[in-house]
Amino acid sequence: MSKPVILCVDDERIILSSLKSQLLNSLEDSYQIELAESGEEALEIIEELRESQTELPLIIADQIMGGMYGDELLTRIKTLLPQTHSIMLTGQASAESVGEAVNKAGLFRYIAKPWEEEDLLLTVQTALQSYNHQKDLLRQDCYQSAINQILQLVLAPISFEEKLSQALAVSLSARCFSRISKGSIYVVDIGLPDSEQLEMKLISQANHGDVPSYGKDFKEADKTVQLVSESYYRAPILLQDRVLGFLYIYVSPSYCDSPQAKAFLSSVCHTLAGMIRICQYNLTLENHSAQLEQLVKKRTEELHQALRKQEQLNDIFLEANKKLDYFATTDELTGLMNRRCFFEHADREASRAQRYSRKTMLVMLDIDFFKEVNDSFGHQAGDCVLSEIAKVMSDNIREHDTIGRVGGEEFAIVMPETDMKEGEELCERIRLAVSSTEIMISSVGISVSVSMGVSEVRSDELTISGAMIRADQALYDSKHKGRNLISRN
Ligand code: GH3
Ligand code: MG
Ligand code: MG
Repeated sequence: MSKPVILCVDDERIILSSLKSQLLNSLEDSYQIELAESGEEALEIIEELRESQTELPLIIADQIMGGMYGDELLTRIKTLLPQTHSIMLTGQASAESVGEAVNKAGLFRYIAKPWEEEDLLLTVQTALQSYNHQKDLLRQDCYQSAINQILQLVLAPISFEEKLSQALAVSLSARCFSRISKGSIYVVDIGLPDSEQLEMKLISQANHGDVPSYGKDFKEADKTVQLVSESYYRAPILLQDRVLGFLYIYVSPSYCDSPQAKAFLSSVCHTLAGMIRICQYNLTLENHSAQLEQLVKKRTEELHQALRKQEQLNDIFLEANKKLDYFATTDELTGLMNRRCFFEHADREASRAQRYSRKTMLVMLDIDFFKEVNDSFGHQAGDCVLSEIAKVMSDNIREHDTIGRVGGEEFAIVMPETDMKEGEELCERIRLAVSSTEIMISSVGISVSVSMGVSEVRSDELTISGAMIRADQALYDSKHKGRNLISRN
């Protein structure tokens, strides 16, 4: 990079050469002195300086010149290079033009011709100091705003990689390291927050930063910001002495090693460390919530399975209860009420009849010579006859009458709200229906008859047992008298 320039503008060569020799004597090697004989030439030189990005801290200009006047030149330079300081040097300038230059061009100082060398040099040195001080302040401001932007990124709703990439871009835009804006950020694998390993992972890279990969072999000295081989800064991202990664920023070869740049990079890395730590927390938190969610999902699934199983079991229990209920109350062969269920029901009818003073009849029935059916056609055929006769009897009773199978080939019927006459008529209907029914057994039609005994449930009887004994007696009478008969008692 070229040395900063002090530009002297005057239309008298003798003045220019005197200025140059006086300035060179006092400023030694730090600045180069450029000379212009007119405002126009000065602007051309300034254009060249801008192109080569050479600094112009100070311009010393005459006021009265052929062509462009000093105040106009300085005003134009103020717009082009606002930081450049200017000194006006003239013997004939009007107070008005000096005032103009002070106001519009931000003139640093006015020096009258002929000047005292000591006065000139003191003024020039003060102007250069002011320029450098202002430059430092600007740079500080630029650093501060970069740090603020990076701090804001910590809370931005973007991915970790995006945060680091933007932080790198902001750091490089501070423009105090390199005009080529090259740099990278390496961090340890943050997927393993407690891992002590130092395998660096390239997280973000601006342009091509061919930074050497960094392994476990870092030294104590690596824990400070360093200008490495005059080509890049390496700044460690430290969290309580633990290396989380490195920030690399390239510098132009001629760029000097500056303490401010190091301090800035230190601050950037400090902020990056905080950013990484927060991301680690978030990652751990996300992991935990994912695990928790997984667990809740598993438990919910298990619960649903258990509920489904319970529902299936309930269905099975319900079905089993239905069956139990059926078998407890029903005779399997005929589908009629079984003995126990029939007597419970008949007892309820008896007590109702007593409560409402209604007549109720009880009939006992027995198939005649049933043993012969079994003996002639087999037990299975006997079963078939039993089931058919039960059906015939069921078809011939009324809606409120109830029939049950109370023994092998014995049945009973309870007839509510029925007197003896109606009861006997009903028995006759059943008797005729049974005896006229032909049951086919292996292509042979057979028919059977029933004997019956009828008895009334008396008004003082709360259960069926008395009527049953009497009906049984009447049935015995029917058998005795020749069967296929109805007797009353
Ligand atoms: P009666 O006219 O005097 O009543 O003569 P019966 O042959 O009908 O009477 P008995 O008491 O001598 O015989 C009844 C028979 O009924 C004997 C028994 O094997 C048969 N039996 C009882 N329960 C069943 C059954 O569920 N299935 C079959 N196939 N036979 C049965
Ligand atoms: Mg019998
Ligand atoms: Mg019998």
